[in-house]
Amino acid sequence: VKSIGVLALQGAFAEHIQHLQKCIQQNNYRLRVFPVRTAKELCQCDALIIPGGESTSMSLIAQRTGMYQPLYDFVHNPEKAVWGTCAGLIYIAQQVVNEKELIKPLELLKVKVKRNAFGRQAQSFIQDCDFSSFAPGCTDFPAVFIRAPVIEQILDPKEVKPLYTLDNGLIVAAVQNDNILATSFHPELASEDGRFHDWFIRKFVLKLL
Ligand code: GLN
Repeated sequence: VKSIGVLALQGAFAEHIQHLQKCIQQNNYRLRVFPVRTAKELCQCDALIIPGGESTSMSLIAQRTGMYQPLYDFVHNPEKAVWGTCAGLIYIAQQVVNEKELIKPLELLKVKVKRNAFGRQAQSFIQDCDFSSFAPGCTDFPAVFIRAPVIEQILDPKEVKPLYTLDNGLIVAAVQNDNILATSFHPELASEDGRFHDWFIRKFVLKLL
């Protein structure tokens, strides 16, 4: 049975776990889901989700709890699936614009990412997006953007493909090498909607698509 870990140092990990558990129950997937706080828990995972939250806090907590190196080694293993949402996208990026002292990212996703690219909390928004070009059935998906980052530049276009671009040209979802997914928005905060998590499970964890 494969296992999906959700990094639980900080942020919206409980919401990811809820969405995943619901998908697993509804579809009878043979999968386990659990929160990850230690290197030992991380070792048991086939896939890791890094949730939204606050990337500077996540980075600091990882360093203080000795999780930086285990996380670094895990995400750089091409056998593993990794999905970063929002702060999680920032944390897996190769480069974070103007935040050298604050964040020590995992340098996985070959992009340059800009934090808080839409402005302050008050400029947070929900937008119905049609993701069906890459995620079957995800038409009109309520994408939640909360002080969201954007992918400002793809550093290695051979490995990283944009999946979704807003009307203003900003890249808010990308995939690297078939095993790494990054989204600026939070599908785990879209109330009851489990379609995006179901797509992640089928494509990246069970590899059915
Ligand atoms: N603005 C946050 C950061 O820079 C990310 C926000 C989020 O995850 N919703 O870490």
